[in-house]
Amino acid sequence: MTSRYPEMSVDTAMITRNAEKVVGLCSGKGISVWGVTKGLSAHPAVASAMLDGGCVGLADSRVDNIRKLRLFGFRHPMMLLRIPMPGEMTDVAENVDCCLVSMPASVLMLDRACDEAGSEVGVIVMVDLGDLREGIWPDGVEEMADALLQCRRTRCLGVGSNLGCLSGVLPSVTNLSLLVRIGGELSNLLGHPLEVVSGGATSSLSLVEDGTMPEGVNQLRVGEGILLGTDVTGNRVIPYLERDAIRITAEVVEVRRKPSMPIGKTGADAFGNTPVFQDRGTRRRAIVAMGRQDVRPEGLTPIDGGLEIIGASSDHLTLDAEDFEGPLNPGDTISFAADYGAMLAAATSPYVRTKIIKK
Ligand SMILES: *Cc1c(COP(=O)(O)O)cnc(C)c1O
Repeated sequence: MTSRYPEMSVDTAMITRNAEKVVGLCSGKGISVWGVTKGLSAHPAVASAMLDGGCVGLADSRVDNIRKLRLFGFRHPMMLLRIPMPGEMTDVAENVDCCLVSMPASVLMLDRACDEAGSEVGVIVMVDLGDLREGIWPDGVEEMADALLQCRRTRCLGVGSNLGCLSGVLPSVTNLSLLVRIGGELSNLLGHPLEVVSGGATSSLSLVEDGTMPEGVNQLRVGEGILLGTDVTGNRVIPYLERDAIRITAEVVEVRRKPSMPIGKTGADAFGNTPVFQDRGTRRRAIVAMGRQDVRPEGLTPIDGGLEIIGASSDHLTLDAEDFEGPLNPGDTISFAADYGAMLAAATSPYVRTKIIKK
């Protein structure tokens, strides 16, 4: 890659401080915290920052990311967050300590892969509490227990759930109490106690904060809160966490005064959307060399005042810069705060350089 920009800077000291805060809050309630690395493509410096902050292990949705961390020398416990593909069971058996599962048949496949690899993997049975993504339905406990009882190398660590991500269902005393109860049922069927009740992600922190997390929940898997200090599902900033660890910076390539209304008959934009415009007269506009191949523009907020995103195509992002104080010229840079989606897109775009800063 030749150009320095677009660039995503990551302040790892801030991530460590955020992890310390989350771990401190949770440890007071007997809850251990796994650091979720997928938001920054399991960058090793970010993984280290989370461990430095006291996370007991690292969790990622991709086996490739976990394998990468192993190659970087991480010997810490690693959890696979996405229920495994039948086609990746060998990689799972060879690289992960613990894996979320929801299909009895997959558990049996994983067990066979572990047999071949000579390894053991702990599994956490996901229970769907209403968000309608992965997980057994509460009446599917017996079928899952039957599969687990046939396994020799796949050990059931406990139950878990994911909320918010697909349908926006919020964690609550009601749905997480159901999770604890299903954990009890599974434990009875298996004939041994369960080590883990994994009660969700960043959005579950609010229950820990207000002291309503049901007794028995003893693990959370936290990414967004530690990286960004926000909770998108709960629609809040997390007041005790820092929010500027991640910055995305792009280079200005055009600054010009232009009318705010397009000229000519308009159709759809490059992505099939029909943009709407407001006539604000002639205004200063800037273009930065960054677009949908690099980020999710809807998730960006300019750091400096007087800048407003107008729109973005694949490679250009235009801003209204009329109220920006001071000069603006090609070669200057504009920095943005990012939400989870924008961060994820930047981290997985081959065009965005990640720069680690440690203050
Ligand atoms: C991504 C993910 C998490 C972490 O979610 P955050 O909201 O970033 O804390 C936890 N569990 C699963 C299953 C995930 O896929």
